[in-house]
Amino acid sequence: MANEKVKCLIIGSGPAGYTAAIYASRANISNILIEGLQPGGQLTTTTTIENFPGFPNGIDGTQLMAEMRQQAVNVGADVRPGLVKAIDLSKRPFAATLDGNTTIEADAVIVATGASAKYLGLDDEKKYQGLGVSACATCDGFFYRKRVVAVVGGGDTACEEAHYLSNLARKVYMIVRKDYLRASAAMQKRVMEKENIEILFNTNTEGLYGTEGVEGAHLVKFRGTPQEERYDLPIDGFFLAIGHMPNTAFLNGQLELDAQGYIVTQQPSTRTSIEGVFAAGDVADPDYRQAVAAAGSGCRAALDMERFLNQ
Ligand code: NDP
Repeated sequence: MANEKVKCLIIGSGPAGYTAAIYASRANISNILIEGLQPGGQLTTTTTIENFPGFPNGIDGTQLMAEMRQQAVNVGADVRPGLVKAIDLSKRPFAATLDGNTTIEADAVIVATGASAKYLGLDDEKKYQGLGVSACATCDGFFYRKRVVAVVGGGDTACEEAHYLSNLARKVYMIVRKDYLRASAAMQKRVMEKENIEILFNTNTEGLYGTEGVEGAHLVKFRGTPQEERYDLPIDGFFLAIGHMPNTAFLNGQLELDAQGYIVTQQPSTRTSIEGVFAAGDVADPDYRQAVAAAGSGCRAALDMERFLNQ
């Protein structure tokens, strides 16, 4: 088991993690950033980012993250692939165990592990995972050219995914459980303007069917009301876009979380319930969940961490 010691361990490689690494490196604080399962985080699964300041014509999400990574490396961050499997926050220095069983000890930790896509919890989602079920249109949309797909959800993500898929698929259904979209007005307009997107309001999914892959969804309209109506919708792909869950399992309950599982921070700081441990980005942000907000909190976490180490 190889052991290393560093002043600050940063866990996660989204805008929060990379920004924290840039600030820590520029403050001459030795740091290692562990990238996690999805280097670059959620933005690598989106298309053009139009709301990150500094890019008047928008920027591809994967490119934006590659630039942030390079910027962190250029100022001295030690960015590494890998996964933090567990972390011991009960004593100093803190000790993180990585896949491969190497251990990194750190005087301070910044948790920036982001959030992962939520699923409805249907057995059929597991059964057809990779066989027609996906939570990432930009990753898997390519396989559905000229086919029929459904996107579940009525928020900005669902609208974005539906719009993206509508340029590939023949027909896109949006399965929305309420009678309205929660998405921003601009996103709603985009979706409404596409002829091959049809929104199924007041509709829930009860299951999927198909022999070798998804061939359709069992839907119910107006569930639990006198107008309740069950029917089957033939589709080739089923995309989830119903929000995200913060990635905190590896913490094993050591930090205080809120009812939804987000890390509780001592606002306006990024301090968590354990001194020397800071949280930044979507893992601690149930409200804003924007790349620019995550980057901002990564900056704050690094400054909080620096003050803590200088105490
Ligand atoms: P949201 O929480 O905003 O929306 C989730 C959607 O999924 C809602 O329509 C919700 O329905 C629905 N939903 C949740 N659970 C279920 C379920 N079990 N069954 C059926 N439907 C369900 O999540 P998003 O991922 O869309 O957005 C997260 C944040 O990121 C938001 O703040 C959003 O504005 C932002 N964002 C911004 C983008 C941009 O500006 N370019 C792009 C993408 C996201 P209901 O309304 O009934 O609760």
